[in-house]
Amino acid sequence: MSSPVTNITHAECRQRAAAITVDDQRIELDLAAAADPDTTAFRSRSLVAFTARAEQTWVDLIADRVVRATLNGRELDPAGYDGARLPLTGLSTGRNELLVEADCRYSRTGEGLHRFTDPVDGATYLYTHFEPTDARRVFANFEQPDLKARFTFVVTAPSNWQILSGAVEASRTVAGDGELATVTFVRTPPQSTYLTAVAAGPYHRVEDVWTRVRGDGSAQEVALGALCRASMAEHFEPAAILTVTRQGLDFLDDAFGFAYPWGKYDSIFVPEYNIGAMENPGLVTFSERFVHRGAATRADRARRAEVILHEMTHMWFGDLVTPRWWDGTWLKESFADLMGYHVSEAVTEFDSAWTTFAGRRKAWAYHQDQLPTTHPIVARVDDLEAARQNFDGITYAKGASALKQLMAYVGPAEFFAGSRAYFARFAFGNTELDDLLGCLEGASGRDLRTWSRAWLQTAGISELTPRVTSDGDGRITRLVVTQSATDPATGVPLTRPHRLVVGLYDLVDGELRRVRSIETDLVEERTEIPEAVGGPAALVLVNDDDLSYAKVRLDPGSLAAVRTHLSTIAAPLSRALVWSALWNATRDAVLPAAEYLDIAFGQVGREPDAALLEAVLGDVGSAIEHYLPAGARAAARARLVETCRAALPQAEPGSDAQLTWARQLTRAASTSATGTAAVRGLLDGDAVPDGLRMDADLRWDCWVALAAQGAAAPAELDAALAADDTMTGRQAHELALAIRPGTREATWQRATSDESLSNDQLRALVRGFSHPGHPDEPGYAQRYFDSILGWWASRTMTMATVLARGLFPAGSLEPGQQPDEHPVVRQARHWLEDHPEAPNALRRIVIEQLADLERALRAQVVA
Ligand SMILES: [Zn+2]
Repeated sequence: MSSPVTNITHAECRQRAAAITVDDQRIELDLAAAADPDTTAFRSRSLVAFTARAEQTWVDLIADRVVRATLNGRELDPAGYDGARLPLTGLSTGRNELLVEADCRYSRTGEGLHRFTDPVDGATYLYTHFEPTDARRVFANFEQPDLKARFTFVVTAPSNWQILSGAVEASRTVAGDGELATVTFVRTPPQSTYLTAVAAGPYHRVEDVWTRVRGDGSAQEVALGALCRASMAEHFEPAAILTVTRQGLDFLDDAFGFAYPWGKYDSIFVPEYNIGAMENPGLVTFSERFVHRGAATRADRARRAEVILHEMTHMWFGDLVTPRWWDGTWLKESFADLMGYHVSEAVTEFDSAWTTFAGRRKAWAYHQDQLPTTHPIVARVDDLEAARQNFDGITYAKGASALKQLMAYVGPAEFFAGSRAYFARFAFGNTELDDLLGCLEGASGRDLRTWSRAWLQTAGISELTPRVTSDGDGRITRLVVTQSATDPATGVPLTRPHRLVVGLYDLVDGELRRVRSIETDLVEERTEIPEAVGGPAALVLVNDDDLSYAKVRLDPGSLAAVRTHLSTIAAPLSRALVWSALWNATRDAVLPAAEYLDIAFGQVGREPDAALLEAVLGDVGSAIEHYLPAGARAAARARLVETCRAALPQAEPGSDAQLTWARQLTRAASTSATGTAAVRGLLDGDAVPDGLRMDADLRWDCWVALAAQGAAAPAELDAALAADDTMTGRQAHELALAIRPGTREATWQRATSDESLSNDQLRALVRGFSHPGHPDEPGYAQRYFDSILGWWASRTMTMATVLARGLFPAGSLEPGQQPDEHPVVRQARHWLEDHPEAPNALRRIVIEQLADLERALRAQVVA
């Protein structure tokens, strides 16, 4: 069968929603032979009861073959099946019953039913991931979020496995010799297809219970589970995971005022997962990277807590009330993102979540919002491929920033009251923007249409610039803040209402101290701030406390002050905002990368917050590899190695800072031979500072760094693998082999032609190929542009995206060259001109990669 057309348009889905209503769906999956690597497919039986108001429609299914299909008992011709859709004609007015039996394929790409074999013990693990539309890879269904159904799953699998779905188990029968079990799960409340889930395998399981007694005397008990692969059990931290889970359920139960509706709450940590986590009701899937095999920092655990709370928020926002179509993805993702940080700070031990949000998460939004493909938070999404590309920094991080601003604007109590009204009104249904705004307006008594137009319905970022006038004593005589933004769609200038804080800092005893904070509203293009007059001008920080979403500039005096005293600012959140301002200025070619690096190298060694330290060192690496001219890189890389090498022995033994410096040393050493000896010293044990645990993960970081420098022999890498023949070890070994100098051609061949690679194997190869230490080799650019359409046609969306993004050619300016003259810029522009008909999602990737390259080249000009 040739590649079927798997895209589905919004227009088609609107028609189908008008044509049918889905009532019940029973799905029987036979996974009995899953552990046999020679079986490639499983039998799937899907029985759908639906009501029709039209004569024809179609059902979605991506399967190896349709075994049998009947509609109201009448056989359907399997020849009508095109690999993605089975047409349904002759529907009865009123109730219909569809049965589709198919052979569906186990996935290695993380889409559909993923199958993984553990190298440690040979055990087989299965889990599903369906968002946005991969339930059709496991059972025939009407794959669109507004056709909700009540699902009954029936799963047959080895009886000694955990057999799980989103609902609790209703009954179990054991077949023949007792080796197989068939589990029937309780019928679910109405939910969208993309939220259904199944997992099976010899998972390690820890149980707990969450109990809630409410003010009215009613009580609720929800069984909790935390699961991971058996071979990861020794590294699992179920107590920490379950504690955050209970804390979150307490908070959200109060805040949302709607009793948890999904019966039980399992959190399963799975291998080779494409994303961080997924909010399947009752069975939340998490990437195994949140099971820390090696040492972990508090920042690592804080990230896991944020993700747990993000997914938990979806049990209401997204699962209970679901966006009607993928143009409303923000309706669920913005809220989940916001609450991940909000609840972390409110009720968990991770009380500096907003610093991470400011220092790291918002950078994702700022980056995305300055690409030519940016879009309003409320986006237009015409089809599925576009929907997949929109799980981006706008939908998540900018959306969350806008809601954070809204919470500051209407007040938290009103914000949650509006949420409660929303759930009470739309439970188990589908919604659009106006439904939510109506509830928030009702609760707050404010008109939110203007706010929505400014924040949700226009794209682009506002730039806030302070104009500071001061007297000879460094006192402010006048402060004006200007905002500038342009709607990228129309080119029209925009002003937005910003509620924010301006922090005024004085230099006292060698420290930058905040002595005045002025909460104000910026509404116009220019806002005079009279309350600032007489205050200190050493540092004027607009949007201190990070209430708003904007790119903030520093005035020349403030820039001079942070150059020498950034690390003396007491509040980590304020330091994060200054670091963010410096980074944005570098990306905009306003601050030369060399100057940014001077400030960073001078200040980062004194950064007391380990999470911020990690974020800044990441930016330093990017500044060197992308924004600095190629000729200056070797020296800067060596300087980064030296900074890490010098800081490591100074860090407190066993501290997060120590681990962060060690990780960063290996990263820096992967691009500079000056780090090779230090990394060898870590591996050999000669130069391991007290308190640093050289666990398997850190050892692999070292091996990868040495391999990148051609300083590790293949036999050494093989020995390292023999010492750690695990999934993580194999991926790291794959990366180490692919990152060695002189292996690029072989890596390119494998990455682009071996379709048996798993998602994570492919990622490792692509990472090795694109390592910044490799010289630019122009031949690959042409091959890239000659190949991408083929990849798009023959690979799944996930795999094609990994190739199209990861193999986009890098480039640096030659001395005297302008960005427009760069050969990759020209090739990319030509490709875009020559392929107007290429799939929009692929064009979007090329446009974005090109924009990133052009931005880097512009920065190289000024550096
Ligand atoms: Zn989410």
